[in-house]
Amino acid sequence: MATKDNQIKCSFCGRDKQDTQILIAGQSGHICDQCITQASTIVKEELNAKNNSSLSNALNLLKPSEIKKHLDEYVIGQDDAKKVLSVAVYNHYKRIAQKNNRPQKGEEIEIEKSNIIMAGETGTGKTLLARTIAKMLNVPFCIADATVLTEAGYVGEDVESVLSRLLQSADYDVTSAERGIVFIDEIDKIARKSDNPSITRDVSGEGVQQGLLKLLEGATVNVPPQGGRKHPEQKMIQVDTRNILFICGGAFDGIDRKIAKRLQSQTLGFTAAHQNDNIDKQNLLQYILPQDLKAFGLIPELIGRLPVLTYLNPLDVETLRRILTEPKNALIKQYTRLFELDNVKLTFDKNVFDHIVEKAIDFRLGARGLRSICEAIMTDAMFEIPSDAKIKTLHITLEYAKEKLNKSKISKLKVA
Ligand code: ADP
Repeated sequence: MATKDNQIKCSFCGRDKQDTQILIAGQSGHICDQCITQASTIVKEELNAKNNSSLSNALNLLKPSEIKKHLDEYVIGQDDAKKVLSVAVYNHYKRIAQKNNRPQKGEEIEIEKSNIIMAGETGTGKTLLARTIAKMLNVPFCIADATVLTEAGYVGEDVESVLSRLLQSADYDVTSAERGIVFIDEIDKIARKSDNPSITRDVSGEGVQQGLLKLLEGATVNVPPQGGRKHPEQKMIQVDTRNILFICGGAFDGIDRKIAKRLQSQTLGFTAAHQNDNIDKQNLLQYILPQDLKAFGLIPELIGRLPVLTYLNPLDVETLRRILTEPKNALIKQYTRLFELDNVKLTFDKNVFDHIVEKAIDFRLGARGLRSICEAIMTDAMFEIPSDAKIKTLHITLEYAKEKLNKSKISKLKVA
C-alpha cells in the first residue's frame, strides 16, 4: 500500500504525494493544496475581471437617461433627484472606467469623485433610490446609520464599521466591495451642535464628520471584518475607498428656515426684488444650497466631499396613491402575487386605495405607513384563505377595509 501511495502525484503540477500537504482525489486524477490555492486565485481574478467588464458593459448600455428610466420603474416622482443621481452615478463609474484604462501621461484629467447628499423628509424614497441604483449596476450595497457612529475612542461604532457592512454585502470580496455603493442614512444627525455651548466635546457630531472625511475622499482604510469597535487582536482587512460611491441622506429638519432666511436676505437686494414671487414656500427644500448645509451644522470639509447635492419632495396624496399601485414591486402588486400563488384572484374596489392613502396621511406615516395599513387590512384574509381551497377569488371592498382597519392596532394611532 505504501509503495502505491508514493506513486500518487498531483495531476496538475506532478508533485509526489509526500511533497504535498493535502492531495485530493477526483474521478480520474488528483490535485494538491498548492494547485488548489493557485487555481482559486485565478478563479477570483477572472471573476473580478468579468465583474468589472459587466459593470462597464452596464454603463456602456446605460446612459444617464436610461438610468433614470430604470429608476422610474421603482420610484415614483422625485424627478430632480433622479436626474441628478443618474448623472452622478454615470460619471462616477465612467471615472472608474477611465482609471482602469489610464490615458497616456500628460493627457490625464483627474475626474473627481461624485459623492452625493440627498435632503428630504423621512420615507420619501432616499434609501429606495440608492438601493435601486446599486441593484441595477449589480454592485455591493449597504446602508449605514450615521447616528451609531462615534469618534474613535468613544462608545459606539468607529466610522470604519460602515465599510464592514459593505464587505459583508460583497461576501468579503474586497475588489468587488471597492466598487460598491454605501448609503449613509441620517447624516443630518451628526451635525455640529454649535448652539449648545454645554457640550464641551462633541462626540457624536463634529468628530464623526471629521472621521468620515478620509472615507469619503478616498483612502486605504483598515476595516474590522465584523464591524463594531476596532481592537488590537482583531485582523483587519484593507479597503481602498477611492472608487466607492457614498450617498448620504438626511431629513435635515428645520433646514427650510435656514433656506428661507437665505432667500429672504438674497431677495432684499433690489436686483432680485421680484424673484420672491416665484418662490414655492411650501417646498423650500428645492432651493437647498451647500451653504444651507453649513448653516445646519455640517462642516465645510464634509460638504466639499459631497459635491452633488439634491433634494426629495414631500409625498402628496397623488404620489402616495401611485406608490401603492404603480412601481414594479408596488404593494398592491405584491399582495396580488401572494394570493395568486395560492390560486386566488385578488381584486380591490378603487376607493380602497384612496382610503389607504387618506389613513397614511392622517397617521403621518408617509409611504412607510402604506405597508402597515395594507397589512392591517389583509392579515385576516392571508391567514384564512390558504386553508380553504374552495376560495378562488377575493374582492376587497371599502367596508371590508374599514372594518379590518378599525379592528387593528394601527387605528389606535393618534391622529396628530
Ligand atoms: P427614506 O430613505 O427617504 O427615509 P425610503 O426610501 O426608505 O425612505 O422609503 C420607505 C418606503 O417607502 C420604501 O420602501 C418604499 O416602499 C416607499 N417609498 C417612499 N418613497 C417612494 C417613492 N417616491 N416611490 C416609491 N416608493 C416609495
